[in-house]
Amino acid sequence: MSHIFHRNPRQQLPTAVGGEGIYLIDSTGRRYLDASGGAAVSCLGHGHPRIIKAIQQQAQTLAYAHTSFFTTEVAEALANCLIEHAPAGLDQAYFVSGGSEAVEAALKLARQFFVETGEPDRQYFIARRQSYHGNTLGALAIGGNAWRREPFLPILVPGHHVSPCYPYRDQREDESAEQYAQRLADELEARIVELGAGKVAAFVAETVVGATAGALAPVGGYLQKIRAVCDKYGVLLILDEVMSGMGRTGYLYACEEDGVSPDILCIAKGLGAGYQPIGAMLASRRIYDAIVGGSGFFQHGHTYIGHAIACAAALEVQQVIADDHLLDNVRARGEQLRASLRARFADHPHVGDIRGRGLFVGVELVADRHSKEPFAPSRRLHARIKQLAMQRGLLCYPMGGTVDGQRGDHVLLAPPFICTEADIELIVALLGDAI
Ligand code: PMP
Repeated sequence: MSHIFHRNPRQQLPTAVGGEGIYLIDSTGRRYLDASGGAAVSCLGHGHPRIIKAIQQQAQTLAYAHTSFFTTEVAEALANCLIEHAPAGLDQAYFVSGGSEAVEAALKLARQFFVETGEPDRQYFIARRQSYHGNTLGALAIGGNAWRREPFLPILVPGHHVSPCYPYRDQREDESAEQYAQRLADELEARIVELGAGKVAAFVAETVVGATAGALAPVGGYLQKIRAVCDKYGVLLILDEVMSGMGRTGYLYACEEDGVSPDILCIAKGLGAGYQPIGAMLASRRIYDAIVGGSGFFQHGHTYIGHAIACAAALEVQQVIADDHLLDNVRARGEQLRASLRARFADHPHVGDIRGRGLFVGVELVADRHSKEPFAPSRRLHARIKQLAMQRGLLCYPMGGTVDGQRGDHVLLAPPFICTEADIELIVALLGDAI
């Protein structure tokens, strides 16, 4: 009998015993092509010798020093590396242990910024209905999944939501991308005004929506228009790139491609590539200076922030990505993956949309391709596809149901950046078979 408190105790899970490149191996010897990278985490695959070596070396030198006593060379080097390539204006990296913690830190930093700068009325956060920002109480409160929030509502701050940028479902036929983006920006503006122009602290959005919508990338101009609305009302823009960042879209930071810089950027997952738990919040100089010149103390922190081994792993991950020119591979293999999926599913009655950027790809499944009618949530299509894919030796990340903002079943693919042309064709073949 297992004594692990499993998240889903009724589910029988295989036991993972090893990992080699893009494959995970279970205790029966079965190999699974890891086309989900866990949950968009394992960007370098498993057992990468350079990362293992970096972890070993750091463990021999210094594993841990509490941040109230020391900084470390490795944490400083990682911060420099992240900021050197960060979107314009982002100047400071605050380390945490994962994605929810990065979002939690961002919410608290935004709030504290306004307290320090004499605008304590700014207390509201606006996010989007189709979003996931984490499972800690603050991140959960702003996330879009009503069903996730439901049991905890009495202990959550109220979240405020606007429409996501979801062209497949929401862009009207008579509307250009520009008009659609404008309509969404107008909706955000109206919500800010409704809540009170001086009362909103920040707008929070995933640059490319991951788990709740299957690689939903914004239309051209959307983020710029959103940025302009935020600026008009003095609202901070927080971009959550916990899934979409760190090279996943073919750019180190996904918002680079949109030419937009947030005030705060959240990253995690691919940062440690699964070798170590680590995340970070990157903040603008203006925000940092307000804290330094104000109380001089960010009222947030955890015991393991800036952990030396986690920083060493993340630093080596960044170096491998650069040395092996992996972002070029992400872009090329991503194009191939989408093209190949489109060819494979061209006539499939239940494949509605194939989308994404880089190796962050979504396949939306529908009951009727023409009306875009989703499957009934009771069919639990996503769970069935996950099972059928695993039986075929493929790990993909299906999500779904039609409950609140989640209007369709979809499969998210986020394979490692190291995958080859042949690996991509195998992913498409196995997924095609499962679907
Ligand atoms: N934000 C986004 C966009 C995510 O996808 C996730 C995790 N799926 C999180 C935040 C939370 O990250 P973690 O699970 O590491 O706490």
